[in-house]
Amino acid sequence: MAEKIDVTFLGTGSAVPTSRRNHPAVLLKYKNENILMDCGEGTQRQFRKAKLNPCKITRILISHWHGDHVLGLPGLLQTMMLNGYNKTLKIYGPSGTRRKMRLYLDLFAHKGEKLSLEVHEVREGVFIDEKEFFVEALSMDHDSPANAYSFVVKEQNRIDKKKLAKLKLPNSPLIGELTKGKTVKIGDKKIDGKKLRYVEPSRKISFVMDTRMTPNAIKISKNAELLICETTYSKEEKEIAFEHAHLTSVDSAAIAKKAKVKKLALMHLSQRYEAIPKVILGEVKKAIGGSGKGGIEVSIPEDLDKMEL
Ligand SMILES: [Zn+2]
Ligand SMILES: [Zn+2]
Repeated sequence: MAEKIDVTFLGTGSAVPTSRRNHPAVLLKYKNENILMDCGEGTQRQFRKAKLNPCKITRILISHWHGDHVLGLPGLLQTMMLNGYNKTLKIYGPSGTRRKMRLYLDLFAHKGEKLSLEVHEVREGVFIDEKEFFVEALSMDHDSPANAYSFVVKEQNRIDKKKLAKLKLPNSPLIGELTKGKTVKIGDKKIDGKKLRYVEPSRKISFVMDTRMTPNAIKISKNAELLICETTYSKEEKEIAFEHAHLTSVDSAAIAKKAKVKKLALMHLSQRYEAIPKVILGEVKKAIGGSGKGGIEVSIPEDLDKMEL
């Protein structure tokens, strides 16, 4: 079984929060990594409501420096500090992030007490490369420098544990060699690793926040298992969407379709759709077409909804 990826939608709203939707924030958990994507105002309370501990955050990815995506940072960082955060928190964002973080810390940081921080400005390409996963960025078309991100679990060689158990091998450090497809001798048995191993395909989760329609939005989410995509406006408001540098329902559908994603989660809906998110959902589904088997699963998660992949 592939290692699971947990996604928690802490905030699914947009520039103006509503009673049901807080500003954007999504937490992605994979093994010991807890990556927070955007941190709108009130995100730390959303952590409490979701019964999650903000001190477990390992990294924060900022899509861009508009208030609805970052105003939760000072409070969240303060709480992490007061609760004894003992790691180095890594923060990534588009150009300007270093200066803005410095200003933030100047305004809000407690004197004498510090949180260990590393701030990185990222442009295009892979900027986190670990053994089992990487994270990449592409710039978006918004009225402030903005990035979209993809978290990608790398393709992995695995051993079929059932087949391995049947061989009743004694414990041996050579079992690790089988994962590489090598043939090894364990006890009196010669074992061909190629017959035991299988390849677990790579898995991608993409996070496309504020942007106009841009080829980069398709590129970053190519073949994603889940695309979390801003959809601020209905297709009826495409002029306003363009003017404010946002996506419409039809744009999000086109991105998901062209990128061949499996699941599409819409968020960052304008407050005007608070009572009628189904209008957006209907438009996206219609634009995607071909629902049913093999189609793209579309949803509009509510705050605190979780997805397990
Ligand atoms: Zn926004
Ligand atoms: Zn914005």
